[in-house]
Amino acid sequence: MSGEAQEDQAERKMRFLFALRSKGVTDARTLNAMEAIDRGRFVRGLFANRAYEDMPLPIACGQTISQPSIVGLMTQALQVRARDTVLEIGTGSGYQAAVLSQLARRVYTVDRHRRLVRESEALFAELSIPNIVPIAGDGSRGLPDQAPFDRIIVTAAAEDPPGPLLAQLKIGGIMVLPVGQSDTVQRLIRVERLEQGFDYEELRPVRFVPLVEGMASD
Ligand code: SAH
Repeated sequence: MSGEAQEDQAERKMRFLFALRSKGVTDARTLNAMEAIDRGRFVRGLFANRAYEDMPLPIACGQTISQPSIVGLMTQALQVRARDTVLEIGTGSGYQAAVLSQLARRVYTVDRHRRLVRESEALFAELSIPNIVPIAGDGSRGLPDQAPFDRIIVTAAAEDPPGPLLAQLKIGGIMVLPVGQSDTVQRLIRVERLEQGFDYEELRPVRFVPLVEGMASD
């Protein structure tokens, strides 16, 4: 790479991190993880040159890669510890899973589009990320074989937290997810499983693609 290109890249990265901080992503471990994972690798085609802007972008299968500041806010709300096993529902581009892979022991990530699972699996291999397990499946059922999980993150909106996911959370575990109807503004919430019952905290308004039951055809 030329000196000029390197400088461009360094400046782009600085602006990217600055935008995250200014939107409230202040947790040092989260910022380090997002510095380590190049979002540009997860956006293809027409929009690739906008990968470092704080906006959601279209990906294959009519889905979207989330806005970086939302990825950051969800990641920091999840409070992932180094020995945690994390379940993500909604692999999409694989970007959120890659960020989480820097913080957790292992990340299972599930998507109903086989193509997205295949493509993100190839990307994780290219980037030499060893601790993500991508799985094609209906994430609204969770992943009973690998449960329970320390942390669960859902990156598609359901009307309510899906029962199977609540059931697959460890006691003391945390789940972060958007809830509400897909065509309106949804609420990002943080759920903590207590010895008995759950504690719910509302974080902020968000807008995600809907959580759809069953497998997609592609
Ligand atoms: N986390 C992603 C963005 C996800 S977009 C990223 O970092 O790029 C939401 C994803 O949820 C889409 O890929 C969609 O296919 C997936 N999805 C929707 N309903 C699902 C379900 N029931 N099970 C698994 N994945 C689902």
